[in-house]
Amino acid sequence: RVKHDGRGKVCFFDAEMDEAARNRRQIESELRHAIIRNQIHVSYQPILDARSGEIGGYEALMRWNRPGHGLTEPDIFIPIAEESGSIVQLGEWVLRQACMEAVRWPLPLRIAVNLSPVQFMLPNLCERIEAILTETGLAPSRLELEITEAALIRDRDRVMTTLLRLHRIGAHIVMDDFGTGFSSLSNLRSFPFDKIKVDRSFTGVLEHDAAARSIVRAIIGLGHSLGMPVVTEGVETETQRRIVVEEGCTQVQGLLLGKPDIEPSVKLAACENILSEQFETGVLPLRRAHHAR
Ligand code: C2E
Ligand code: MG
Ligand code: MG
Ligand code: MG
Repeated sequence: RVKHDGRGKVCFFDAEMDEAARNRRQIESELRHAIIRNQIHVSYQPILDARSGEIGGYEALMRWNRPGHGLTEPDIFIPIAEESGSIVQLGEWVLRQACMEAVRWPLPLRIAVNLSPVQFMLPNLCERIEAILTETGLAPSRLELEITEAALIRDRDRVMTTLLRLHRIGAHIVMDDFGTGFSSLSNLRSFPFDKIKVDRSFTGVLEHDAAARSIVRAIIGLGHSLGMPVVTEGVETETQRRIVVEEGCTQVQGLLLGKPDIEPSVKLAACENILSEQFETGVLPLRRAHHAR
C-alpha cells in the first residue's frame, strides 16, 4: 500500500513505519514539556591540552531523563527536536544553564555549547545569545559555540552576519565534526572560525587505519596553517592520544580523559586538583579517569 505523508512525499506504509512515526510524535510531544518537568540536564565533558593535560574548558552536552526510558541519547531526540522546532527552546536552556554553571567555577575556564542549524533560522540568534551572556554575567570570551557545516548551508548571508557578530563580541566559533560531511575548505576560510574539532569517527580507527591518520594529519595541518587550534574528540585510548599529540593536535576530548559528568562538585574538585598539581610540580601529569564516576 502506498501512502502520502502530507508533505508531498510518497512512502510505503507498513506497521513498522506506523510504529516509528507514532514514536516520533510521542517524543515530540514529551519534549515540549521536558524542561518544565525538570527532565533536561547538562553534562560537562572536559577538553584538555593535548600535551600537558591541563583542562581548558568543558563541553556542555544535553541529556534527557525520559520517564519510562531513562537517560535518552541526544542522537535520538535532537533530530526530532530539530524537526519540531523545540530545539530552539532546549538549546537556549542548555546555553543559559551552562553559562550559569561556568560563572561559578573557580577558574575562568571556557564553556563550549552546541548550536543547532535550526537555531540559525531565528532572525535574532545573536541578540538572544548576547542576552543570555548579559543575564548570566559570563564573559563572551569564555564561550565557545560549536556548529557543524549543516548550519552553513541555508541562508549563508544571515549565518555569516550572525557568526561575524558573535565573533566580534569575543565568543569563539568552533567547527564541530570536521572531516565528515562537506568538509569544505572554503567554509573554514570564509566564516570566522576560531577552532576545528576533528570528528570522532576518525579517532576510533586511528590505530589501524593509515588513511584515517592521514586525514587527521591533514586537518591538523590545515587548522594550524589557518592559525586555528585543532581538537580531537572521542579519544578513548592512550595510543590514540599519543598519535594525535604526535600529529600536533592542540586539545583532546574523550572517555580516556574524562566522561561527560552531571555532578558539578566532582568536576570542580577534579579541575582544582589537576591545576594545583600543575603549579606544584611544574609539569602536568596526564591523569585518566579523574572524572569517571
Ligand atoms: P558532539 O557535539 O560532537 O559531541 C561529542 C559527542 O561525543 C558527545 O555525544 C559525547 O558524549 C561523545 N563522546 C565523548 N567522548 C567520547 C569517546 O571517547 N568516545 C565516543 N564514542 N564518544 C564520545 P552525545 O553527548 O551523545 O551528543 C551527541 C551529539 O548531540 C553531539 O555531538 C551534538 O551534535 C549533539 N548535542 C549534544 N548536546 C547538544 C545541545 O545542547 N544542543 C545541540 N544542538 N546539540 C547537542
Ligand atoms: Mg560538539
Ligand atoms: Mg563533535
Ligand atoms: Mg556530533
